[in-house]
Amino acid sequence: MNLLVVGSIALDTIETPFASVSETPGGSALYISISASYFTDSIGLVGIVGDDFPKDVIDELKQRNVNLSGLKIVPGERTFRWAGKYHYDMNTRETIYTQLNVFSDFDPIIPDHFKSSKYICLGNIDPVLQMKVLNQVRSPKLVIADTMNFWIERKFDELLETLKHVNVLIVNDAEARQIAREPNLIKAGRKILKLGPDVVIIKKGEHGAVLMIDNAIFSAPAYPIEAIQDPTGAGDTFAGGFAGWLARTDDVSEKNLRRAVIYGSAIASFCVEDFGINRIRKLSWEDIQKRFRAFKEMTSFEVD
Ligand code: AMP
Repeated sequence: MNLLVVGSIALDTIETPFASVSETPGGSALYISISASYFTDSIGLVGIVGDDFPKDVIDELKQRNVNLSGLKIVPGERTFRWAGKYHYDMNTRETIYTQLNVFSDFDPIIPDHFKSSKYICLGNIDPVLQMKVLNQVRSPKLVIADTMNFWIERKFDELLETLKHVNVLIVNDAEARQIAREPNLIKAGRKILKLGPDVVIIKKGEHGAVLMIDNAIFSAPAYPIEAIQDPTGAGDTFAGGFAGWLARTDDVSEKNLRRAVIYGSAIASFCVEDFGINRIRKLSWEDIQKRFRAFKEMTSFEVD
């Protein structure tokens, strides 16, 4: 397997000031896998759902060549559920509830043929589970991880332990401040780099993303979208595009990490155009390429 994806698979209830949806398929691993499947057809997914999770979504993952031998479907149990409400600016949200359900006693078992995956993408999930995954894999080339306020607040020490084994941490601005206990984002990024990761990517919603590595900083804008429907999963879709591009090209040079940030930003910009996974399940490679090229156009300028 080229890319191992581990994370939550969820039924999300989402409310924006303009519309709402109830129990739509989501979760970090679902967004990451769909997004990465545009870049590589060698993805292994490890996760857990109850038997209330829609079968058509599982079938769609199979059609996308996502290997599901690490997906546990527990009869008679409920899938993880999350509900969030966006404020008027669509950039800030509050969690209404988190129901761990099947995740409460999930013990991720990595199938043997996933253990030598070169690229690992640990979606937002309990950092203890992230570490359990890392303890089972054999010297991956790159470990990419995401986390969330829920875990930073409840499992901070465990998160710090996991970070020692992560190469690329992808977090949003609020999470970076919370982990580093530092209001300035650049200082927060530098502090996170001292906790283990070689690279930190700080996502700033509609204000783009910043990649920090050693002394270099690369700043990418977000693609300008006028009709944002639902930002849920944009961060995970970014991570899927980022990881997918690196797994496809097998090149972790700084130059290629920058390209991966743009691929991540390009595919995440589609995610917000509709609720849940609705938009990202309908893309073509050409759609992604077009938006990738639009970033070049949007950011290039003459020095004199
Ligand atoms: P994002 O908008 O990219 O930050 O990710 C939103 C996704 O994260 C939703 O689909 C949720 O189901 C999932 N999620 C929310 N809270 C948690 C949590 N505590 N652990 C794992 N996944 C979560």
